[in-house]
Amino acid sequence: MRIILIGPPGAGKGTQCQRLVDLLRVPHLSTGEMLRAEIRARSTEGLQANRFMELGQLVPDTLVLGMVTKRLELADCRAGFLLDGFPRTLPQAASLDDLLERRAMNVDGVLELSVPRDELVRRMLARRRADDNPEVFSNRIAIFEAQTAPLLEYYARQEKLATIDGLGDADDIFGRIKIALGKFARDASR
Ligand code: ADP
Repeated sequence: MRIILIGPPGAGKGTQCQRLVDLLRVPHLSTGEMLRAEIRARSTEGLQANRFMELGQLVPDTLVLGMVTKRLELADCRAGFLLDGFPRTLPQAASLDDLLERRAMNVDGVLELSVPRDELVRRMLARRRADDNPEVFSNRIAIFEAQTAPLLEYYARQEKLATIDGLGDADDIFGRIKIALGKFARDASR
């Protein structure tokens, strides 16, 4: 299965991604993780990305697209994949559609993990990451709302979107995700 998971920072994507890859047995493609690995490796891409990430801004589309394109070409992605944190802008979504279409593939479904803003802030204060200070974090939420939220409409129009209530117990949330996966599978066999 080829699945995209979309959610604002702090929505709990990490926890649900782990469960999803265990269930679906597909690689977990997190652009945030890939970028952090590039930074650790001190590659040209990493050095370029770091400036944006420190400010909570999006890394340029071309850089991210190059990275994802290379990753999708690896053999393990033939079984499907779980995209986490990508696409994040409309141009990224359009490029992904092109990329897959050229390989006669498409996305099976898009999961939106929906969590209200006050809960995101509460969770952020309880965890801590380098790009998690309150100012940078609110910047990341604002960018999500401006740049990434329009993707929900984009995928809704393609009839691929499932909105998952991201509040409550992680197991319950995963239960909701499994119901959506069942629907994606039924739509694919229509
Ligand atoms: P979160 O989901 O908590 O925002 P991620 O680990 O997905 O965190 O991303 C961390 C940072 O990496 C983002 O704030 C952004 O700077 C950069 N990033 C990750 N994915 C993308 C992407 N698809 N396009 C542009 N920037 C990205």
